[in-house]
Amino acid sequence: MTNIILFGPPGSGKGTQATKLAEKYNLIHISTGDLFRYEMGNDTPLGLEAKSFIDKGELVPDSVTIGMLENKMNKHPEANGFILDGFPRTIKQSEALDEIFANKNMAISALLSLDVNKEELVKRLLERGKTSGRADDVDPEIISNRISVYHEQTAPVYNYYDKKDLSKTIDGIGSIEEIFDRLCNAISA
Ligand code: ADP
Repeated sequence: MTNIILFGPPGSGKGTQATKLAEKYNLIHISTGDLFRYEMGNDTPLGLEAKSFIDKGELVPDSVTIGMLENKMNKHPEANGFILDGFPRTIKQSEALDEIFANKNMAISALLSLDVNKEELVKRLLERGKTSGRADDVDPEIISNRISVYHEQTAPVYNYYDKKDLSKTIDGIGSIEEIFDRLCNAISA
């Protein structure tokens, strides 16, 4: 069983690459950002709560996010493995994930971190904002806040899994296919 955490700052290409990896390795792709956008689109209580954080570029509280992720994983008992995109984003989420996996007698195979510099991230997010309909991709200040939140709250997750010898950094600059090949090579290694 292969369970991958696809990691990296906003705009680093996690969603694009996770979709391709899920197809190639027959994994269930779970994006917490997509789950929140689905809830927001349906005006559910969870969606309304998440929106107040997402619109400011803040993280949604762990209590909400962890429960949502666990529910989604439980819907796929038949899974051949998971690719997690946008989760875990805090140390607390990492600890919770370890517990969820342990209870299922499963383990994380690797955390693959896409490395992209800030200038390129801002450029990509503003470009995506022209067509994505995502309010959090339009305002340069909100984008900047998301990147700061990544460095403060999310980057420590890399070290958390690095201590277990599971973290790998992948160059996230290049064509979609080039980056995909790098990720596949890291998974086969
Ligand atoms: P990106 O990686 O481009 O920032 P996502 O679609 O992964 O976009 O996430 C959008 C927003 O959803 C985040 O800025 C955050 O507010 C919220 N979010 C997504 N995943 C998490 C998470 N694991 N914990 C807390 N908030 C999250």
